[in-house]
Amino acid sequence: AKRRDKNGWTLFEETMDQQYSERQRMKLELREAVRTNSMGLFYQPMFNPAGTQVAGAEALSRWHHPQLGPVSPAIYIPLAEEMGIIGDLTRCVIEKAVGDCVSWPGELFVSVNLSAHDLSDRTIVSVITDALDRYNLAPERLQLEITESGLMNDLEVARDILTELRAMGMQIAIDDFGTGYSSLSYLDILPLNKVKIDRSFVRNLAEDAKKLKLLRGVVHLARELGLDVVVEGVETEEQLVMIRENNCADLIQGYIFGTPMPKGAFLELATKLSKA
Ligand code: C2E
Ligand code: CA
Ligand code: CA
Ligand code: CA
Repeated sequence: AKRRDKNGWTLFEETMDQQYSERQRMKLELREAVRTNSMGLFYQPMFNPAGTQVAGAEALSRWHHPQLGPVSPAIYIPLAEEMGIIGDLTRCVIEKAVGDCVSWPGELFVSVNLSAHDLSDRTIVSVITDALDRYNLAPERLQLEITESGLMNDLEVARDILTELRAMGMQIAIDDFGTGYSSLSYLDILPLNKVKIDRSFVRNLAEDAKKLKLLRGVVHLARELGLDVVVEGVETEEQLVMIRENNCADLIQGYIFGTPMPKGAFLELATKLSKA
Protein backbone atom coordinates (compact mmCIF):
# COMPACT_ATOMS: atom_id res chain seq x y z
CA ALA A 1 0.00 0.00 0.00
CA LYS A 2 1.18 3.50 -0.64
CA ARG A 3 0.42 6.64 1.28
CA ARG A 4 1.35 10.25 0.98
CA ASP A 5 3.41 12.34 3.34
CA LYS A 6 2.54 15.96 4.00
CA ASN A 7 4.54 17.15 0.99
CA GLY A 8 2.62 14.89 -1.36
CA TRP A 9 5.47 12.43 -1.87
CA THR A 10 4.62 8.78 -2.19
CA LEU A 11 5.77 6.60 0.70
CA PHE A 12 5.44 2.87 1.11
CA GLU A 13 4.30 0.52 3.84
CA GLU A 14 4.90 -3.06 2.83
CA THR A 15 5.99 -6.44 4.07
CA MET A 16 9.58 -7.42 3.26
CA ASP A 17 8.57 -9.52 0.24
CA GLN A 18 6.29 -6.88 -1.13
CA GLN A 19 8.98 -4.30 -0.51
CA TYR A 20 11.46 -6.32 -2.52
CA SER A 21 9.29 -6.75 -5.60
CA GLU A 22 7.98 -3.20 -5.37
CA ARG A 23 11.56 -2.03 -5.38
CA GLN A 24 12.53 -4.24 -8.32
CA ARG A 25 9.58 -2.96 -10.31
CA MET A 26 10.38 0.59 -9.39
CA LYS A 27 13.95 0.12 -10.59
CA LEU A 28 12.75 -1.08 -13.99
CA GLU A 29 10.38 1.85 -14.29
CA LEU A 30 13.01 4.32 -13.20
CA ARG A 31 15.44 2.98 -15.78
CA GLU A 32 12.74 3.39 -18.43
CA ALA A 33 11.88 6.93 -17.31
CA VAL A 34 15.52 8.00 -17.45
CA ARG A 35 16.09 6.24 -20.79
CA THR A 36 13.11 7.96 -22.39
CA ASN A 37 14.06 11.31 -20.88
CA SER A 38 10.68 11.56 -19.15
CA MET A 39 11.88 12.74 -15.75
CA GLY A 40 10.63 16.21 -14.89
CA LEU A 41 12.54 19.23 -13.64
CA PHE A 42 11.34 21.92 -11.23
CA TYR A 43 13.04 25.14 -10.24
CA GLN A 44 13.17 26.64 -6.77
CA PRO A 45 14.09 30.33 -6.65
CA MET A 46 16.90 31.80 -4.57
CA PHE A 47 16.15 35.33 -3.39
CA ASN A 48 18.01 38.24 -1.88
CA PRO A 49 17.20 38.42 1.86
CA ALA A 50 14.71 41.24 1.29
CA GLY A 51 12.76 38.90 -0.97
CA THR A 52 12.58 41.52 -3.72
CA GLN A 53 14.91 39.92 -6.27
CA VAL A 54 15.46 36.49 -7.71
CA ALA A 55 19.14 35.65 -8.21
CA GLY A 56 18.81 32.14 -9.62
CA ALA A 57 17.22 28.76 -9.11
CA GLU A 58 18.05 25.23 -8.05
CA ALA A 59 17.06 22.56 -10.56
CA LEU A 60 15.32 19.70 -8.75
CA SER A 61 14.49 16.53 -10.60
CA ARG A 62 10.97 15.12 -10.43
CA TRP A 63 9.52 11.72 -11.17
CA HIS A 64 5.82 11.35 -11.71
CA HIS A 65 5.20 7.64 -11.70
CA PRO A 66 2.21 6.60 -13.88
CA GLN A 67 0.62 4.58 -11.06
CA LEU A 68 2.26 5.79 -7.87
CA GLY A 69 2.17 9.51 -8.65
CA PRO A 70 5.04 11.75 -7.53
CA VAL A 71 7.93 9.79 -5.99
CA SER A 72 10.39 11.65 -3.76
CA PRO A 73 13.93 12.18 -5.07
CA ALA A 74 15.05 11.05 -1.61
CA ILE A 75 13.83 7.61 -2.76
CA TYR A 76 14.81 7.43 -6.44
CA ILE A 77 18.13 9.34 -6.45
CA PRO A 78 19.77 6.71 -4.20
CA LEU A 79 18.17 4.03 -6.40
CA ALA A 80 19.60 5.61 -9.54
CA GLU A 81 23.02 5.77 -7.88
CA GLU A 82 22.81 2.13 -6.90
CA MET A 83 21.74 1.15 -10.43
CA GLY A 84 24.56 3.07 -12.04
CA ILE A 85 22.24 5.32 -14.05
CA ILE A 86 22.72 8.54 -12.06
CA GLY A 87 25.11 9.79 -14.75
CA ASP A 88 22.32 9.53 -17.33
CA LEU A 89 19.95 11.37 -15.04
CA THR A 90 22.51 14.10 -14.35
CA ARG A 91 23.08 14.48 -18.08
CA CYS A 92 19.33 15.01 -18.66
CA VAL A 93 19.16 17.53 -15.82
CA ILE A 94 22.14 19.51 -17.16
CA GLU A 95 20.70 19.49 -20.68
CA LYS A 96 17.31 20.82 -19.54
CA ALA A 97 18.67 23.24 -16.94
CA VAL A 98 21.19 24.85 -19.30
CA GLY A 99 18.60 24.99 -22.10
CA ASP A 100 16.04 26.66 -19.82
CA CYS A 101 18.46 29.11 -18.21
CA VAL A 102 19.28 30.65 -21.61
CA SER A 103 15.83 32.27 -21.71
CA TRP A 104 15.99 33.63 -18.16
CA PRO A 105 16.56 37.35 -17.77
CA GLY A 106 19.78 39.10 -16.81
CA GLU A 107 22.43 37.18 -15.01
CA LEU A 108 20.19 34.60 -13.37
CA PHE A 109 22.00 31.36 -12.63
CA VAL A 110 20.83 27.77 -12.57
CA SER A 111 22.14 25.39 -9.94
CA VAL A 112 22.44 21.65 -10.60
CA ASN A 113 23.05 18.86 -8.06
CA LEU A 114 25.95 16.54 -8.78
CA SER A 115 26.18 13.05 -7.34
CA ALA A 116 29.00 10.71 -6.26
CA HIS A 117 29.41 9.02 -9.60
CA ASP A 118 29.36 12.31 -11.52
CA LEU A 119 32.62 13.42 -9.93
CA SER A 120 34.45 10.13 -10.23
CA ASP A 121 35.49 10.53 -13.86
CA ARG A 122 36.10 13.33 -16.32
CA THR A 123 33.12 12.59 -18.57
CA ILE A 124 31.16 15.20 -16.63
CA VAL A 125 33.47 17.97 -17.86
CA SER A 126 32.56 17.42 -21.50
CA VAL A 127 28.89 16.82 -20.68
CA ILE A 128 28.79 20.27 -19.09
CA THR A 129 30.96 22.21 -21.54
CA ASP A 130 29.15 20.62 -24.48
CA ALA A 131 25.77 21.80 -23.14
CA LEU A 132 27.08 25.31 -22.38
CA ASP A 133 28.52 25.58 -25.89
CA ARG A 134 25.45 24.30 -27.68
CA TYR A 135 23.13 26.68 -25.83
CA ASN A 136 25.73 29.41 -25.69
CA LEU A 137 25.27 29.94 -21.95
CA ALA A 138 28.04 31.72 -20.04
CA PRO A 139 29.72 29.34 -17.55
CA GLU A 140 29.18 31.95 -14.82
CA ARG A 141 25.45 31.21 -15.02
CA LEU A 142 25.87 27.56 -14.10
CA GLN A 143 26.30 26.54 -10.47
CA LEU A 144 27.15 23.02 -9.32
CA GLU A 145 26.04 21.72 -5.91
CA ILE A 146 28.25 19.16 -4.22
CA THR A 147 27.69 17.08 -1.08
CA GLU A 148 30.12 14.97 0.85
CA SER A 149 28.42 11.81 -0.37
CA GLY A 150 29.22 13.10 -3.83
CA LEU A 151 32.92 13.15 -3.08
CA MET A 152 33.67 10.01 -1.14
CA ASN A 153 34.90 7.89 -4.04
CA ASP A 154 38.02 9.74 -4.94
CA LEU A 155 38.49 13.16 -3.47
CA GLU A 156 41.46 14.04 -5.63
CA VAL A 157 39.69 13.27 -8.89
CA ALA A 158 36.68 15.25 -7.69
CA ARG A 159 38.87 18.20 -6.72
CA ASP A 160 40.62 18.20 -10.10
CA ILE A 161 37.33 18.12 -12.00
CA LEU A 162 35.87 20.92 -9.89
CA THR A 163 39.02 23.02 -10.19
CA GLU A 164 38.79 22.78 -13.96
CA LEU A 165 35.10 23.74 -14.01
CA ARG A 166 35.69 26.58 -11.56
CA ALA A 167 38.51 27.91 -13.75
CA MET A 168 36.04 28.18 -16.63
CA GLY A 169 33.87 30.42 -14.46
CA MET A 170 31.28 28.04 -13.06
CA GLN A 171 30.15 28.50 -9.48
CA ILE A 172 30.74 25.66 -7.04
CA ALA A 173 28.54 25.38 -3.95
CA ILE A 174 28.90 22.97 -1.08
CA ASP A 175 25.41 21.67 -0.31
CA ASP A 176 23.80 20.63 3.00
CA PHE A 177 26.65 22.32 4.80
CA GLY A 178 26.91 21.55 8.49
CA THR A 179 25.43 18.06 8.24
CA GLY A 180 27.22 14.73 8.24
CA TYR A 181 27.24 14.92 4.48
CA SER A 182 29.32 18.03 4.27
CA SER A 183 32.40 18.35 6.38
CA LEU A 184 34.73 21.21 7.26
CA SER A 185 37.76 19.84 5.46
CA TYR A 186 36.07 20.43 2.10
CA LEU A 187 36.24 24.16 2.73
CA ASP A 188 39.98 23.78 2.56
CA ILE A 189 40.31 21.27 -0.24
CA LEU A 190 37.70 22.27 -2.81
CA PRO A 191 37.53 25.31 -5.11
CA LEU A 192 34.27 26.63 -3.64
CA ASN A 193 32.61 29.99 -3.88
CA LYS A 194 29.35 29.29 -2.08
CA VAL A 195 28.06 27.50 0.97
CA LYS A 196 24.49 26.25 1.20
CA ILE A 197 23.65 25.96 4.87
CA ASP A 198 21.46 23.00 5.65
CA ARG A 199 17.95 23.63 6.83
CA SER A 200 18.61 21.88 10.13
CA PHE A 201 20.20 25.19 11.21
CA VAL A 202 16.97 27.03 10.45
CA ARG A 203 14.49 24.62 11.99
CA ASN A 204 13.57 25.79 15.51
CA LEU A 205 15.64 28.92 15.00
CA ALA A 206 12.99 30.95 16.78
CA GLU A 207 12.58 28.50 19.69
CA ASP A 208 16.12 27.40 20.42
CA ALA A 209 18.75 30.06 21.25
CA LYS A 210 21.56 27.64 20.48
CA LYS A 211 20.44 27.40 16.85
CA LEU A 212 21.13 31.05 16.21
CA LYS A 213 24.60 30.77 17.69
CA LEU A 214 25.36 27.81 15.45
CA LEU A 215 24.00 29.56 12.39
CA ARG A 216 25.95 32.74 13.09
CA GLY A 217 29.12 30.74 13.65
CA VAL A 218 28.81 28.80 10.41
CA VAL A 219 28.02 31.96 8.44
CA HIS A 220 31.00 33.75 9.96
CA LEU A 221 33.28 30.86 9.04
CA ALA A 222 32.05 30.82 5.45
CA ARG A 223 32.48 34.57 5.05
CA GLU A 224 35.97 34.51 6.56
CA LEU A 225 36.83 32.21 3.66
CA GLY A 226 35.29 34.61 1.17
CA LEU A 227 32.31 32.38 0.40
CA ASP A 228 28.75 33.50 -0.26
CA VAL A 229 26.08 32.05 1.99
CA VAL A 230 22.78 30.55 0.89
CA VAL A 231 20.42 29.66 3.72
CA GLU A 232 18.08 26.81 2.84
CA GLY A 233 14.71 25.79 4.23
CA VAL A 234 13.41 29.14 5.45
CA GLU A 235 9.71 28.60 6.05
CA THR A 236 8.43 31.16 8.54
CA GLU A 237 8.39 34.95 8.89
CA GLU A 238 10.05 34.57 12.30
CA GLN A 239 12.99 32.65 10.83
CA LEU A 240 13.31 35.17 8.03
CA VAL A 241 13.41 38.14 10.43
CA MET A 242 16.09 36.49 12.57
CA ILE A 243 18.21 35.68 9.54
CA ARG A 244 17.91 39.25 8.27
CA GLU A 245 18.57 40.89 11.64
CA ASN A 246 21.68 38.79 12.13
CA ASN A 247 22.85 39.27 8.54
CA CYS A 248 23.13 35.51 8.10
CA ALA A 249 22.41 35.17 4.39
CA ASP A 250 23.44 36.45 0.99
CA LEU A 251 20.68 34.40 -0.59
CA ILE A 252 17.62 32.64 0.78
CA GLN A 253 16.00 29.50 -0.59
CA GLY A 254 12.87 28.30 1.16
CA TYR A 255 9.15 27.83 1.05
CA ILE A 256 8.59 31.32 2.47
CA PHE A 257 9.66 32.85 -0.85
CA GLY A 258 8.98 30.02 -3.28
CA THR A 259 8.59 26.27 -3.55
CA PRO A 260 10.01 24.27 -6.47
CA MET A 261 7.90 25.09 -9.55
CA PRO A 262 7.62 24.27 -13.25
CA LYS A 263 9.85 26.22 -15.61
CA GLY A 264 7.01 28.41 -16.93
CA ALA A 265 6.08 29.60 -13.44
CA PHE A 266 9.72 30.26 -12.63
CA LEU A 267 10.27 32.29 -15.78
CA GLU A 268 7.23 34.41 -14.94
CA LEU A 269 8.47 35.03 -11.40
CA ALA A 270 12.03 35.71 -12.54
CA THR A 271 10.88 38.16 -15.19
CA LYS A 272 8.97 40.14 -12.56
CA LEU A 273 11.73 40.04 -9.94
CA SER A 274 15.10 40.16 -11.67
CA LYS A 275 17.61 42.97 -11.76
CA ALA A 276 17.74 43.32 -15.52
P1 C2E B 1 18.67 19.32 -1.72
O1 C2E B 1 19.71 19.39 -2.79
O2 C2E B 1 19.07 19.76 -0.36
O3 C2E B 1 17.45 20.19 -2.27
C1 C2E B 1 16.61 20.97 -1.45
C2 C2E B 1 15.41 20.18 -0.98
O4 C2E B 1 14.77 20.91 0.07
C3 C2E B 1 14.35 20.00 -2.07
O5 C2E B 1 13.72 18.75 -1.81
C4 C2E B 1 13.40 21.15 -1.77
O6 C2E B 1 12.10 20.93 -2.27
C5 C2E B 1 13.43 21.16 -0.26
N1 C2E B 1 13.08 22.47 0.30
C6 C2E B 1 13.29 23.69 -0.23
N2 C2E B 1 12.87 24.68 0.58
C7 C2E B 1 12.33 24.06 1.68
C8 C2E B 1 11.71 24.55 2.89
O7 C2E B 1 11.55 25.75 3.11
N3 C2E B 1 11.32 23.60 3.78
C9 C2E B 1 11.48 22.28 3.57
N4 C2E B 1 11.04 21.43 4.51
N5 C2E B 1 12.06 21.79 2.44
C10 C2E B 1 12.49 22.67 1.50
P2 C2E B 1 13.47 17.67 -2.97
O8 C2E B 1 13.16 18.35 -4.27
O9 C2E B 1 12.52 16.67 -2.42
O10 C2E B 1 14.89 16.98 -3.16
C11 C2E B 1 15.46 16.21 -2.14
C12 C2E B 1 16.89 15.91 -2.44
O11 C2E B 1 17.02 15.04 -3.57
C13 C2E B 1 17.72 17.14 -2.79
O12 C2E B 1 18.09 17.81 -1.62
C14 C2E B 1 18.89 16.50 -3.54
O13 C2E B 1 19.83 15.99 -2.62
C15 C2E B 1 18.21 15.34 -4.24
N6 C2E B 1 17.95 15.72 -5.63
C16 C2E B 1 16.88 16.33 -6.18
N7 C2E B 1 17.02 16.49 -7.51
C17 C2E B 1 18.24 15.98 -7.82
C18 C2E B 1 18.99 15.85 -9.05
O14 C2E B 1 18.57 16.27 -10.14
N8 C2E B 1 20.21 15.23 -8.95
C19 C2E B 1 20.71 14.79 -7.77
N9 C2E B 1 21.92 14.22 -7.77
N10 C2E B 1 20.05 14.92 -6.61
C20 C2E B 1 18.83 15.50 -6.63
CA1 CA C 1 21.00 20.85 -3.57
CA1 CA D 1 29.79 29.60 -26.13
CA1 CA E 1 20.60 21.22 0.42
